[in-house]
Amino acid sequence: MSEVTSRTRVFALLGDPVSHSLSPTIQNAAMADMEMDGVYVALRAGTEEMVGFIRGLARSGGGGNITLPHKEKAATVLDVSSPAVKRTGACNTFWEADGKINGDNTDVAGFARALEAFLGGPPEGLSVLVLGAGGAARAGLVALIDGGVEEVHLLNRSRDRARVVARRIGGAKVRVLDSAREVDGKAFDLVVNATRLGLQPDDPLPLDLRRLARAGGVVDVVCRAGSTPFVDLARTLGIRATDGSEMLVQQGAVAFERWWGRGPSLRVMRAALERRLRR
Ligand code: NAP
Repeated sequence: MSEVTSRTRVFALLGDPVSHSLSPTIQNAAMADMEMDGVYVALRAGTEEMVGFIRGLARSGGGGNITLPHKEKAATVLDVSSPAVKRTGACNTFWEADGKINGDNTDVAGFARALEAFLGGPPEGLSVLVLGAGGAARAGLVALIDGGVEEVHLLNRSRDRARVVARRIGGAKVRVLDSAREVDGKAFDLVVNATRLGLQPDDPLPLDLRRLARAGGVVDVVCRAGSTPFVDLARTLGIRATDGSEMLVQQGAVAFERWWGRGPSLRVMRAALERRLRR
C-alpha cells in the first residue's frame, strides 16, 4: 500500500463477525496493483454502528461492503438502489455518487460470472437444486433465473424463509421442497450449496449427495482454506465441483468497479486470495 494521507479513500467491510473475512486481502491487493489511493479494512459492527458507518464512509468519499447479518438492513439505508438490490432486498456494496448513497448487490453478478466460468456458458435449461434461502441463495437465485435455468428446487432448513424467497424472486420457476426426503433418487444438472454449512470445521454436510440419482455439477458458495467438505464429497463421487473462491473474487471485482470506475486485475485478486488461503 502507498502512503496513507488525508486524501486516502477508506473502504470497510461491515458485519459481525468479520475476522475471517477475505475481502481486505483481495481489495487491498487490487488497489495496490492499480496504484489507487485507498485502504480497505474490516470493522465488526452491530446494526446501529453499521448504519452510521455506511453514511460516514460514503459521505467521506469512501464506501465498502456489507456482510452477515446486515445485508437486508443495509438495503434500507440507501438513497439509490441497483436493480440487484431491489430484486434481492439485500445490499453488499455501497458508495456515494452525486451526494447520494448508492448500493448494489454484487453477489448476483459474482455468482453469475463464477457459474459461467464453471459451466463454460450460461445455465440455460438446467434443472438446479439450491440449498439455503439466505442472502447468498437469493443472489444465486436471481443469477440462475436471469441465466435461463429451466427450474429451481429450493431446500432450506426453514421452509417459511424459502417460501418468502421463492415468492419474491423465483416466480413459477422455483419450487420449494418440504424436506430433504423429496430429493431422494432425483437427478439435477447442478446442485448449489448456498447455506453457511462448511464454513466451520465441525459443520454437517448441507446434503449427502449420495441421496441423489445424479448431480451434474456442484457449486459451493462457501470459501475456506483447502476445499469445502461438500466439494470434497462431490469430487470423491466423480462430480465436477467448485467452491466459493471465484464468486468471492468476482463479486469483489464488481464492487471495485463501482468504487473506482474501472475494473481490477482478476489475476491479482485471485493470487492474493490463494496466498492468504495457503497461510
Ligand atoms: P444467511 O443469510 O445467514 O443464510 C444462511 C443460510 O444457511 C440459511 O439458508 C440458513 O438456513 C442456513 N443454515 C445456517 N445454519 C444451518 C444449519 N445448521 N443447518 C442447515 N442450514 C443452516 O447467510 P448468507 O449471507 O446467505 O451466507 C451463506 C454462506 O455463503 C456463508 O458461508 C457466506 O460466507 C457465503 N457467501 C459467500 C460469498 C462468496 O462470494 N463466495 C458471498 C456471499 C456469501 P435457515 O434459513 O433455516 O436459517
